Amino acid sequence: MARGLPKKAKLRDVDKIIAVSSAKGGVGKSTVAVNLALSLAMQQKRVGILDTDIFGPSIPKLLNLTGREPNVTESNRLVPLSNYGLKAMSMGFLLPDEDSPVVWRGLMVMKALQQLLHEVEWGGLDVLVLDLPPGTGDVQLTITQQVVVDGAVIVSTPQDIALIDAVKGINMFKKVDVPVLGMVQNMSVFVCPNCNHETHIFGSEGVQREAARLGTEILGSIPLHRDICTLSDAGTPVVVAQPDTANAMAYKAIADKI
Ligand code: ADP
Repeated sequence: MARGLPKKAKLRDVDKIIAVSSAKGGVGKSTVAVNLALSLAMQQKRVGILDTDIFGPSIPKLLNLTGREPNVTESNRLVPLSNYGLKAMSMGFLLPDEDSPVVWRGLMVMKALQQLLHEVEWGGLDVLVLDLPPGTGDVQLTITQQVVVDGAVIVSTPQDIALIDAVKGINMFKKVDVPVLGMVQNMSVFVCPNCNHETHIFGSEGVQREAARLGTEILGSIPLHRDICTLSDAGTPVVVAQPDTANAMAYKAIADKI
């Protein structure tokens, strides 16, 4: 008899799970994930973010939590750390220091992933945002096959090379029955910090074209802006540091749709 896919489980104490995904690294996925999670937390929701990027965790730095270690409950569950009203768990909290590479084989990676997925004491969440690693590999498949993910947000930049892979990501979610909520176009337009002139460095049509072709929505566009980068690097994401700017509004408008 053919074996079906394992039955997906809901995570304990978590109402809704939204995965933020990208096909390539460096397109701004973690920045989108953290700013969306913070925007939802600002709406008085109980929100957590789970960084499932075992090899390149960036949530500790983005939330200014680098070097902090999570407590462990009596029943051996990890207690998330918290900043700006957002609970967070990341492989980064479990490594000895920021510069240690993870040089694990598949089995160890899967063990760490199981711990992050099933052994965190979230203490009741309305929304858990999953920051997935880039690509469509083992980790993404394991998560989407084991856990009920309510929707996926795909982050892409407008270049063709990023979009080709974004399409693969969308198709993976379709295969594992995770609804794709839509695409976020990051670095859509460069806004000069001196004169506010706008330039479409990476073209302007790509994401719209692919979204239309795949029958998926564009949830919003985020400009390429120096402040988004410098504030992220400082551990004060733009929706927290500059909540009334156009940059922050762009993230908040997307959060309103998920
Ligand atoms: P990923 O998670 O896709 O690898 P990151 O979110 O870590 O990407 O972002 C990669 C780099 O790009 C970071 O330095 C980040 O601050 C910067 N970045 C992301 N989005 C923007 C943006 N819209 N404008 C300027 N810099 C950005």
